[in-house]
Amino acid sequence: MTSAALPSTGLHVYRVGLRTRFRGVTSRDGVLLRGPAGWGEFAPFWEYEDAEARAWWRSAREAADLGWPDPVRQAVPVNVTVPAVDGPAAHRLVTTSAGCRTAKVKVAEPGQDVAAEVERLEAVRDALGPDGRIRIDANGAWDLPTAISRLRVLDRAAGGLEYVEQPCASVADLAAVRRATHVLVAADESIRRAEDPMAVVRAEAADVVVLKVAPLGGVRACLELAEQVGLPVVVSSALETSVGLAAGIALAAALPELPYACGLATAQLMVDDVVPEPLLPVDGMITVRRPEPTAELLAAHAADAELTGRWRARAGRMEARG
Ligand SMILES: [Mg+2]
Repeated sequence: MTSAALPSTGLHVYRVGLRTRFRGVTSRDGVLLRGPAGWGEFAPFWEYEDAEARAWWRSAREAADLGWPDPVRQAVPVNVTVPAVDGPAAHRLVTTSAGCRTAKVKVAEPGQDVAAEVERLEAVRDALGPDGRIRIDANGAWDLPTAISRLRVLDRAAGGLEYVEQPCASVADLAAVRRATHVLVAADESIRRAEDPMAVVRAEAADVVVLKVAPLGGVRACLELAEQVGLPVVVSSALETSVGLAAGIALAAALPELPYACGLATAQLMVDDVVPEPLLPVDGMITVRRPEPTAELLAAHAADAELTGRWRARAGRMEARG
């Protein structure tokens, strides 16, 4: 069967397993939809209310209805993502990451102590070698004193950090961390879940901003925000299939400057994908392209009736509001 056998409209609800528990989930599910410009993905996490999910819907519709601006580069450097696993598993992830020279390591996982983080970072440095880059992501979990003391220890364990992503939750604390340490600070949640993403800039709270296409309402919205912010951008995924990842690749490909590796190699975290050739890195780079699902893979990863019903209802509420 070819893609011509697919209906030109309608929603395809998928569910794909994750190799490692991530963000508290063990599988990802969402909606794939096709419009005149191609495929879009709508996969906001279930804890997001409709008001917050609406940006994800705009992003999916942009992909399906408009497509994306032209690329200025043909390949995007990407990082390997290391979840809160032990040292040997972290080492293995990095050495099997298709040549990624940058690793993003999760820290501040509930129930883990600093020793586990040190072990993980030392393993990642060992696997990357001295010229690899290591960034960490605390997802806003540290208070200010913890952030300052942890960064001292973790910067040493990593043999130098490229930056720390969202060490604390508030913009004021990000700014304070930035003043208290030489480690660069990247803002993620403070951009994508903020009423006012420019607050980070006014407070001089970040050296780098992380932009995720779906929660920020699409590639064009992100390009405009990047211009307003005026700081280096790291494009990151929201753990989508390769359909959603293609939007992140399109943003990374269209940004005028791209000084850091992007968090778009997350197809590596999925057990399978809805496209025959997922957006996976080769030599640490993902080629700019837009893979399409096949009928076989959509069928193989179709969600059960209950989940399908929930997604159809959610997408219907988005559509109703336009
Ligand atoms: Mg983050």
